[in-house]
Amino acid sequence: MKLLFIQPAQMFRDGRLIKFKQTISYPIGLVTLAGLTPPDVDIVIVNESVDEIDLDMDVDAVCITGYSSQITRGYQLADAFRQRGVTVVMGGIHVSLNPDEAEQHADAILIGEAEGLWPTMVADIRANRLKKRYKLAHFPEMSSPVLPRYDLVDRAKYIQPPSVKSNLIPIQTARGCPHHCDFCSVVQFLGRKFRMKPISHVLKEIEACGSDYLFFSDDNVIGNFDHAREFFKAITPLNVKWMGQFPSTIGRHPELIDMAAKSGCFLLFIGFETIVTESLHEVGKSFNQRQNYHEVIRRILDAGITPFGSFAFGFDHDDPEVFDRTLAFTEETHLPLVSWFILTPLPGTVLYRRLSEQGRIIDRNWHNYDLSRAVFRPAQMTPEELEERYWKAFGDFYSLPKIAKRVRSATTDTTIQTMYAMLSRSMIAHRINPLSGGVLAK
Ligand code: SF4
Repeated sequence: MKLLFIQPAQMFRDGRLIKFKQTISYPIGLVTLAGLTPPDVDIVIVNESVDEIDLDMDVDAVCITGYSSQITRGYQLADAFRQRGVTVVMGGIHVSLNPDEAEQHADAILIGEAEGLWPTMVADIRANRLKKRYKLAHFPEMSSPVLPRYDLVDRAKYIQPPSVKSNLIPIQTARGCPHHCDFCSVVQFLGRKFRMKPISHVLKEIEACGSDYLFFSDDNVIGNFDHAREFFKAITPLNVKWMGQFPSTIGRHPELIDMAAKSGCFLLFIGFETIVTESLHEVGKSFNQRQNYHEVIRRILDAGITPFGSFAFGFDHDDPEVFDRTLAFTEETHLPLVSWFILTPLPGTVLYRRLSEQGRIIDRNWHNYDLSRAVFRPAQMTPEELEERYWKAFGDFYSLPKIAKRVRSATTDTTIQTMYAMLSRSMIAHRINPLSGGVLAK
């Protein structure tokens, strides 16, 4: 049996596909699904942002997954394959949160996480007895090791910084989050219980991926402090370099920052979300303490780690000046890297329901839900003004004089910082969020 796994490309607003020669977005979901697939099945992985899709490929079924911003293209591909009589199954976060919509484009859908279900679906594809929906009654425990099929991906298509010998490989060490941020789709998909992989499994994945340059892609690497301490101790002898995501409350636990640094952490994403306290309350992220942001950034810098701050714009408490105030904050705190988003009511989230009930959603073309386009009416700006100010401020942060100034005064390694800053400049010029970016194809 042969299966084709597809991660669809994102699209520009006018529907053109966004194609890269090289990208930073590694298709970890598909290589993990391949790891769950019985070994006698042939698998072809296509990450459409860097690979071409052969609609006439001779396969037994096509499996498509994607975020909301990729799902419009995913549905186009699903419809095209089904017109040719090819079986299509779909899964992933958008499909799981919007199953009624997704099943109109697929022979079967997988709701939730694939562990515990995917081998059954593969058997049903083989026996030609697919059901319309597959869903586990519980979130799966992460106690069974899964070795992702890294060998199925052409690493040359993924950006590699000049100073490291291998690609950045995402590895998940835990799933779930106990918080209730109303814009978050992850927590709807992965649940509120923090589920950890046994450390021994993570060590096997690190060894199998063949890279010493890693991204621990959990939403919170330190969701359980005791587990995090053990994990950092276990990876310290491996001499890997890693990046990951910590909550902004990490400032209260400097020893964990130091342990992370000692274990090879070189960059930390911090979800500050906003510098406006009222906005944190507005979206249910009150555990972020605005008054502690300066200290968090200082402690991370002091540990020799590059802090990478994530901020969103478009909250009801955001006035047009919020961009200038946020830029000023980044200068005061010497924040070297930022990722900026436009608040996006991803379908299936509490925020989506709230804004829908208020009649404020103005765009239901999911390909525009790329976290950088205004798809709802903000309270204190027009959607157009929100977008214009967002891109202008983003471009201002990554202007050449500011990049140069930050590099000159940096206290941490600037190789990755400079590479990401230059990539961001190029993406911002094309109005593509840098976090899903790459080197554009001609
Ligand atoms: S945004 Fe982060 S902290 Fe909030 S619910 Fe989602 S994963 Fe948890």
